[in-house]
Amino acid sequence: MVTTVYQEKSFRENVNLVFDIAAATLEISGGLAYVLKGAYNVYQVRFPVKIDGKIESFIGWRAVHSEHKLPTKGGIRFSPLVTQDEVEALAALMTYKCALVDVPYGGSKGGLVVDPKKYDDAVMERITRRFAFELIKKNYINPAINVPAPDMGTGPREMAWIADTYMQHRTDDINGLGCVTGKPLSLSGIPGRTEATGRGVVYGIREFFRHAEDKKLAGLEGTLEGKTVIVQGLGNVGYHTAKILESEDGAKIIGIIESDGALMDRNGLSVETINTYKKEHGVAKGFPDAQFFENGDAILEEECDILVPAALEGVIHLENAPRIKAKLIAEAANGPVTFGADAILRQKGVVMIPDIYLNAGGVIVSYFEWIKNLSHIRFGRLTRRYDVNQNDLLLKVLESNGHKIPPAISEELCNGPNELDFVRTGLDDSMREAFQQIRDRFWSHEKIESYRIAAMAIAIEKIAISYQDRGVYP
Ligand code: GLU
Repeated sequence: MVTTVYQEKSFRENVNLVFDIAAATLEISGGLAYVLKGAYNVYQVRFPVKIDGKIESFIGWRAVHSEHKLPTKGGIRFSPLVTQDEVEALAALMTYKCALVDVPYGGSKGGLVVDPKKYDDAVMERITRRFAFELIKKNYINPAINVPAPDMGTGPREMAWIADTYMQHRTDDINGLGCVTGKPLSLSGIPGRTEATGRGVVYGIREFFRHAEDKKLAGLEGTLEGKTVIVQGLGNVGYHTAKILESEDGAKIIGIIESDGALMDRNGLSVETINTYKKEHGVAKGFPDAQFFENGDAILEEECDILVPAALEGVIHLENAPRIKAKLIAEAANGPVTFGADAILRQKGVVMIPDIYLNAGGVIVSYFEWIKNLSHIRFGRLTRRYDVNQNDLLLKVLESNGHKIPPAISEELCNGPNELDFVRTGLDDSMREAFQQIRDRFWSHEKIESYRIAAMAIAIEKIAISYQDRGVYP
């Protein structure tokens, strides 16, 4: 993870600059463009928590960017560095992301200034529950209005505390469990949610690799097998992206950049071994089977086929962009490439798969979880046995007519799909479809010079249409 961030404009301004260019390729009214740029509302909360006999004060925000669809959706970030500007920018990205991948939500985001590493579990639980309560009071958490999810510094544990706090206060809400997604399975979470953002990143890269014309743009060819990859950040998103690329696609993870420095091995690193080492030691330094570089930033500039920034925003900026040598940048984080850097990279021929598309896997699977919570039934519960019986019949007919079915195939047909199969195929389908829309727009529109602008234009267009059809056209 880099320590120096040259954010030449604020994060929110960066997002708005992309918006302006994309909106100019569409015919939408200036009034609507104005509405779609700013946060619709932001709630700031400051609350005290007694820790070891002393009162500590915490500050946090929940920003709602657009309510063109309800509920609004987006993660809650716990970090000592969170700011209101960041939360607003991330809420805007949620609006565009959901519209792009046809997830029927408005955009929102939350942030609490807290360093989760500083406190033990019991204290973190108290802080989280108190923050949740403040948001519940004002309807900033509610299954019909605003549904948070994990983000940096939060995970299933925090979502469980939030869901439980909500249900303690709204005992008569039959859909209470849908007030938050990314919950543990025991609390009606959904299998595959934890890996979803990383898996979605991989599905997006795979779809890019299915199109020869697009690969050629980046100077790439063939499949993902053997492609060299550098990943920044071995958190939830970076870890799953790297792990899946290595184990399912045969890509070579040659660099992993962490907060204390970077590990490199051009012959390929073992993601799982490094992850285990990091969990045990808390740092990457000292890992025996790779070269260690104190200055992690510099590794972003190493030669590779694919660079996956999966940590913070603004890590590829005006200063380091000219030295980036990757052919493809797969934006797993939100806003990792600044507006200024984007222009430099495009001039160099670097192709970027933009964040609002590539990291949408998390919210796509959150949508599945929310649907599951509202329907109070696991996916496939009614149909699985029926499907298995039908497949069984079909196999029997084929076999009685002398057809030999390989055992692996008949076994799969007779097992039927489980919930994880539905989640993964549903995610894959959404990622394929959205990329096809982006590349169609990119290749067919001469004023659109990048996937980023294409993706944003599609998102704005979908939101504009939904405003127009509803008759709330400013
Ligand atoms: N925090 C994730 C994101 O930035 C997931 C949001 C959600 O599932 O609502 O996309």
